[in-house]
Amino acid sequence: MSVDLIVRGATVYPGDRPPSVADVAVADGRIEAVAASLAAAEAAEIVDGAGLMLSPGFVDMHAHSALRSFDEPLLEPKIAQGFTTELINPDGLAPAPVAPGRRSERQAYLRGLEGSGPAEWPWSTFAEYLDALAGTRPATTLVPSIGHNSVRDAVMGGDRRAPGRDELRRMQQEVRLGLEAGARTLSFGLLYLPGAYADTDELVALAEVAAEFGAPLVPHIRNEGRDVLVAAGEMIEVARRSGAPLHVSHLKSAADEALIDPLLELLDEASRDVDLSFDQYPYGAGSTVLAALLPAWAQEGGASGTLARLTSAEGRAQIAHDVDYGLPGWENWLGMVGPERVVIANAAPPNEAAAGRTLAELAEERGRAPVDVVFDLLVESQLDVTMLQHYASEQAVRRIAAHRLQLVGSDAIFGAKPHPRLYGTAARFLGRFAIREGLVPVEEAVARLTARAADRLGLRDRGRIEPGLRADLVLVDPERFVDTATYEEPRRYPDGVVGVWVAGRPVWRDGRATGERPGGVVQEPRR
Ligand SMILES: [Zn+2]
Repeated sequence: MSVDLIVRGATVYPGDRPPSVADVAVADGRIEAVAASLAAAEAAEIVDGAGLMLSPGFVDMHAHSALRSFDEPLLEPKIAQGFTTELINPDGLAPAPVAPGRRSERQAYLRGLEGSGPAEWPWSTFAEYLDALAGTRPATTLVPSIGHNSVRDAVMGGDRRAPGRDELRRMQQEVRLGLEAGARTLSFGLLYLPGAYADTDELVALAEVAAEFGAPLVPHIRNEGRDVLVAAGEMIEVARRSGAPLHVSHLKSAADEALIDPLLELLDEASRDVDLSFDQYPYGAGSTVLAALLPAWAQEGGASGTLARLTSAEGRAQIAHDVDYGLPGWENWLGMVGPERVVIANAAPPNEAAAGRTLAELAEERGRAPVDVVFDLLVESQLDVTMLQHYASEQAVRRIAAHRLQLVGSDAIFGAKPHPRLYGTAARFLGRFAIREGLVPVEEAVARLTARAADRLGLRDRGRIEPGLRADLVLVDPERFVDTATYEEPRRYPDGVVGVWVAGRPVWRDGRATGERPGGVVQEPRR
């Protein structure tokens, strides 16, 4: 036998079975053989895996890489921690489908989370977008979701109303086209616009199309604060009524840690009759656009409507009042965590220097109320500002991470001073929580990062180390593998990653990217 690569003598975690010491041979991008010894085989490259741990490539269940690959196709912070597959277009948000007259509005709305992509978007349909994305030749495999918010916007614009019967049918058709083009899940962002305008019946109507494909619903639920149980309950109802599987995004209880146990019990209970899972980024701070501090009414009309309100005295006064007193059902992040625990992650000119500062510090420095600082930053930087919100204790994070239905999603947003989850997620979960702390058995942690996640996305060609499957592999030193990125210094690669291969090609070796980009975009429908 002559092959391209043999990793010799590593402790092999096959994905969802117990580990054993073995040799793994790779040829033509696929796993050729797994055996106790392949000493007789010849290989173009032999890697000594003694004392190291070899697992399938990791799957990021919540990635904001929908446009990033146009600028940074290496997606270096991802491959450096072992992610070889990423589920993109989460939170209902996607660059397509998009009505031609709404491209610049969509681009402005997504910029903070996803980057811009090409200056002029050459696509309208979801399939056209996937073709353009595939043309960037990413290092990882990008697995698309069809996003409810993008579908609603394409059919109804930013209108705050229920869809007419014909509009609902057209939305269903867009969801179907997305799933036929390769989307593996249907994502929702019920905190973001215009998804927040949808009632439960609308969600069910679209979920019924996902159910035909066996595609999970992937929601950022309507409320992760005081009403988290109601919001999770809504999506469980949507899954039950439609028959679609459910995978809840970035599970958390942002307002009250006492709600974590009831939340996990609710999911446990529902999992008896609903095919259910969730993902989590293993940190106690969130990160999103700064505009998420505004109530939904203040964001009506998209970027231009938001900016108009933020430049009027009445608009500002009304928002400030709502932040102080809350609104029924609204997830009021600033009111919930306070200005000391909101940190600017990234801001477009002229506010680059705000990155890394809390709203409280900026308010003090500028002699303004914290809420006015929010308004000023959003206006001056044309909404292109992201933040970190510190809401949870390390203990709360671990309680969720230990749960059997948990999978891992980085929710990583690129930027100047990003959330450390961009660099550290996989290493924090597997290296710190599982290997070092024993919070989750190592074999179980690997299954969640690989086989179980690939199954969730209907990817039958990967997620396990088995002959015939795609050779996406991660080789780490278990003694050293740990996250090093911190809130203060987020742009630090994990320690202990020896090699990462995508389709048999090395993308990360000896602490650096090789420059190879063997990933791609999934463009085949599930089924
Ligand atoms: Zn989200």
